[in-house]
Amino acid sequence: MKVGILGGGQLARMLAAAGIPLGLDFTIVDPKRDACAGALGRLVTADWNDDAAIEALSGCERVTCDFENVPATVLDALSTRTTVHPSARALATGQDRLAEKRMFESLDIPVPPFAAVSSRPELLEALERIGFPAVLKTRRMGYDGKGQAVLRTPEDLEPAWQALGDHELILEGFVPFDFECAITVVRSASGDLRCYPLSRTVHHDGILRLAMAPAPRADQLQARAEGLGRALAEHLDYVGCLTLELFAVDGRLLANEFAPRVHNSAHWTIEGAQVSQFENHLRAVCDWPLGETAARGRSLMINWIGEMPAREKLLACRGLHWHDYGKQARSGRKVGHATLTEADGQALEELMAGLAPCLDAQSASLLTGLMNDSA
Ligand code: AMP
Repeated sequence: MKVGILGGGQLARMLAAAGIPLGLDFTIVDPKRDACAGALGRLVTADWNDDAAIEALSGCERVTCDFENVPATVLDALSTRTTVHPSARALATGQDRLAEKRMFESLDIPVPPFAAVSSRPELLEALERIGFPAVLKTRRMGYDGKGQAVLRTPEDLEPAWQALGDHELILEGFVPFDFECAITVVRSASGDLRCYPLSRTVHHDGILRLAMAPAPRADQLQARAEGLGRALAEHLDYVGCLTLELFAVDGRLLANEFAPRVHNSAHWTIEGAQVSQFENHLRAVCDWPLGETAARGRSLMINWIGEMPAREKLLACRGLHWHDYGKQARSGRKVGHATLTEADGQALEELMAGLAPCLDAQSASLLTGLMNDSA
């Protein structure tokens, strides 16, 4: 079967890596000539709404995305010519933080207090209600911590207002979370739905750095998170994988945002689950039976940000699985990741202790923090 992917980054690359053994054949559209998924499929270098791109994707039996900011109008146009998953509606909702939060509320998915902000008086009014500290975010195109500023005191207002530039904003209460976690669910066209174990996630400067799954000491949260993910996927009549990012605070879960695609917090599933998120996304999109989402023991995933670390040193770490996305080094960019998988938490800790001395100071300190916290 021919599958088209809008977006040719690492997510498309890992989708193709999972799909080639399934007998799938990939056409990938990306505006960038050096899109890293191009190594595993036919790369069409074009804008999303370019005629050549639409033509190439229309020739595929299924089309999906590795990027949630593809214009929903492009998916709408494509869906008159072929089968597109996820839908334009799911993408459009995920593209606007305000619409997303309102949808969560309508589904009884708990969220931090929030308000729409499009002028300075509205910002002051929203702060009056929500209070400090708060987070001011652009409604659209924010990712990896871009397009947001934490407001701790009145002095933070003007610099944040200037820095965000775009004034279609949302103000959210700052959540004093105990930890962050994420649930990935996969749903097929026939409505079969499966959930992966919760991933415990660690962000630094808004970028995901570590994920551990199944999240330690979160057994009571699993059923609750599954209920929230299910409500969302069923409401959107969603087909494929989606991830709901959550804050855990005082034993409760609050939703931050959802991603209508495979997600970094579930990269551990490649080695650490019976069937990975990438394979299951493709199975769902192709309307094939879904695979088991159960974990094989416990896993840790660590992102390589900016540039790949020295391979020789890391590959010598026991149990380490190496993923190099083949991307140019650039500050703040996700260029690869590694996964450790072991039978249980204690055995994983031994692998993590072996990895820590091979890491840069910042990654090592995040890993030590997670180890202490999850012990
Ligand atoms: P986002 O781009 O919304 O996924 O935010 C990236 C990261 O910023 C999150 O994973 C959190 O670590 C932090 N963050 C975002 N919103 C909030 C919030 N309302 N309260 C506390 N931390 C937040």
